[in-house]
Amino acid sequence: ITELEEKTRMLENTMREIGRAQLAIEKKNRELSFLASRDPMTSCFNRRSLYEYLDNNFTDAQQKELPFCCIMTDIDHFKNVNDTYGHSVGDDIIKMVAGCLKANIRDGDIVSRYVGEEFCIILPGASIQVACQVAERCRAEIESKVTSDVKVTSSFGVSALSYGAVDPQGLIHQADEALYHSKDQGRNKVSAWKPQMAIDGPIP
Ligand code: GH3
Ligand code: MG
Ligand code: MG
Repeated sequence: ITELEEKTRMLENTMREIGRAQLAIEKKNRELSFLASRDPMTSCFNRRSLYEYLDNNFTDAQQKELPFCCIMTDIDHFKNVNDTYGHSVGDDIIKMVAGCLKANIRDGDIVSRYVGEEFCIILPGASIQVACQVAERCRAEIESKVTSDVKVTSSFGVSALSYGAVDPQGLIHQADEALYHSKDQGRNKVSAWKPQMAIDGPIP
């Protein structure tokens, strides 16, 4: 009996250890998938996970005709900031902008670092009016911040799935066209996409 008890005890210990190891592996896997989905500088989603999100959600919103918006933003005259104050201040400003964007979205929205000093936000369930309000709040907050004695602004473009984009890239492209309209109009502005903004778009 003693020998059987001893074996049972050993088996229980081994099972406990396996259980603990399994939990540790699961935790590591969660950490790894978090790291793989993020931009290391800002902890925003990276471009790969933005596209992954869009691949999984765009068509559904399109088929069910659900509201679905995209905001693109690009820091104004950022080359000057780097040239004048150095790359490290530039990096701090990129982090500040990421923080303002994350602070002004709702649960379920996606903020991604699209490239360099350009960010893309996806707002499932948001009307164009709501998305423009979010963009305006972000714009105003960025304008109000002082980072290492430096102030910057950012320009915004907003697009909605209801404007007729046929795929995720089309939606991002429209938001980008609206963003360039904001740049054209003097920067530090929010513009919603209009057909006239299409670079190769319809003749008015
Ligand atoms: P505009 O108002 O037209 O957007 O002007 P801009 O100078 O911001 O435009 P441009 O796209 O030419 O400049 C972007 C700059 O962003 C150039 C690049 O060196 C800088 N940049 C991109 N990624 C990083 C980064 O991770 N850190 C820093 N410090 N700078 C970056
Ligand atoms: Mg840029
Ligand atoms: Mg820029």
